[in-house]
Amino acid sequence: MPVHFSFRAALGVLLLSPSLITPTLAPHVAAQERPIKKPKLAIILVMDQVRAEYLTRYAPLFGEGGFKSLMRTGATLTNAHYGHATTYTGPGHALIGSGSYGHTSGIVGNRFYNSESKRVESMFFDENAKLLGLEAVPKDDDTSPRNFMGNNLSDQLLLSNNFKSKAVAIANKDRAAIMLAGKLGKAYWYHEGAGGIVSSTFYARELPAWVQQFNARKIPDSYYGKTWTKLLPEAAYSLSHADDFASETDFKALGRTFPHVLTDKSGKPTADFYEAFTATPWANDYQFELARTAIAAEKLGADEYTDILGISLTATDIAGHAYGPDSHEVQDIMVRLDRQLETFLKDIKSRFKSDEVLIALTADHGASPLPEYMASLGIEAGRIKRKSISDAIEVALTARYGAPANAATWVRVVEDPSVFLDQSVIAQKNLDAAEVQRVAGEAMLTVKGIALYYTREQMLSGQLPANRWAAMLEKAFHPLRSGDVLFITKPFYFNGTYGDRDTGSTHGTPYEYDTHVPMIIAGVGVRPGNYSMAVDVADFAPTLAGLLGVDAPAGSEGRRLTEILR
Ligand SMILES: [Zn+2]
Repeated sequence: MPVHFSFRAALGVLLLSPSLITPTLAPHVAAQERPIKKPKLAIILVMDQVRAEYLTRYAPLFGEGGFKSLMRTGATLTNAHYGHATTYTGPGHALIGSGSYGHTSGIVGNRFYNSESKRVESMFFDENAKLLGLEAVPKDDDTSPRNFMGNNLSDQLLLSNNFKSKAVAIANKDRAAIMLAGKLGKAYWYHEGAGGIVSSTFYARELPAWVQQFNARKIPDSYYGKTWTKLLPEAAYSLSHADDFASETDFKALGRTFPHVLTDKSGKPTADFYEAFTATPWANDYQFELARTAIAAEKLGADEYTDILGISLTATDIAGHAYGPDSHEVQDIMVRLDRQLETFLKDIKSRFKSDEVLIALTADHGASPLPEYMASLGIEAGRIKRKSISDAIEVALTARYGAPANAATWVRVVEDPSVFLDQSVIAQKNLDAAEVQRVAGEAMLTVKGIALYYTREQMLSGQLPANRWAAMLEKAFHPLRSGDVLFITKPFYFNGTYGDRDTGSTHGTPYEYDTHVPMIIAGVGVRPGNYSMAVDVADFAPTLAGLLGVDAPAGSEGRRLTEILR
């Protein structure tokens, strides 16, 4: 009872004391009383494979009207991180658009092993969808958001007013456009097979006239034979390692060093040329031109109902994979992106008043350095071949349980961060699945560069240890899409496509260089400034939802960043 009385007394002091009311309650009341001014157009700008550090590293080379203009007028969140272990494009864009991690959305990677079709599929493959705008397409390119569980910010906005708003997303990659458009918006993306913009029958029966007219301009073709040279004097590129670094890739005959001549071995534009185009800064010019065309054609921001335009810029990613994040190429693309952004922002300013637009910028993941570059500096780093992982598991499981019958193998697929075991072998031998997973995991630890593993059984039974890495893998685990053993590499190691190769770099780890991304939110309702509190990228969508006056998407697990609100 004394506790009860003292609590009441304390409450009385709290309610009566003006000094306590002023700082804690007054701003909250004021915020509720002020009507929410909503933007006419919200632009979500996603840079593919851009570390937060790029914005400080290249700041001396930026002008005043690009990134710096956004930082001056917006809230710069300097400590924004992904909380999942799978820092890839699909999971990244899914989180940006919806605020939900793979454990909710099911988007636990770019690809997964589908136990029903018994093959590795794109996470966005949909057998009921057909690519729009191209006749013969690789099977995995028939994509849609159907595998995404829940909805995203675009969906939420359209649902909030019976589709009086519009939501359009454009990108170089299907998964980027799809995860920004959601299920109810419209997604358009570049396809190297078409040399132009495509979509999915999930979104429409045919490409709208404005997209067809845009494609008829054949903008990529106009770059055939052009030479990509450095924008700045040579001395500026001393911020990057040598241009001619051995483990850079000769991407689609673009060459490993400047100047890069954009042609095609066949002598005319084919899919190789159209793919090489995506590694050049001109691919970003192309996306900005598509954005301007979409704003005009779809009349985005023209009425009182807020519209969303999602733009994903990918040149940094394609060049980052080919040349590494510390290359002259990535530096040049970032410096040029600053200029391209300046032009785009000027165009937006000419169309809209400053209180009519919200611009939110972030990235879908960072970038791992070239392992050979780190090794050359004496820092342990390396590529892990997926075969070395599966070989170690095969040896260990066969030693323990005997070889699988009929020339079967224990391992179906290694698809980061999962190892998928053959369930029929485990069933045939009548084994304890949890024990098999543990034996496989222990075998993986003998592979150089593997840091740790957790099993499917641990994930499902809530037996994960309370550490950061287990939590990051748990966010990337979904029972329907994940495998039997999940693992993390040591820092500066990676596996997957680029682990199997000897050149190029990637991302996908839970380490700072992959998780720390830029985040700037500028426009109506936002208090400009630098904010250094820890921010989860899961906070991005619910914060934007608040600024647009709509509920956060269904699976949103972040918080509204009230610190940045006016
Ligand atoms: Zn990406």
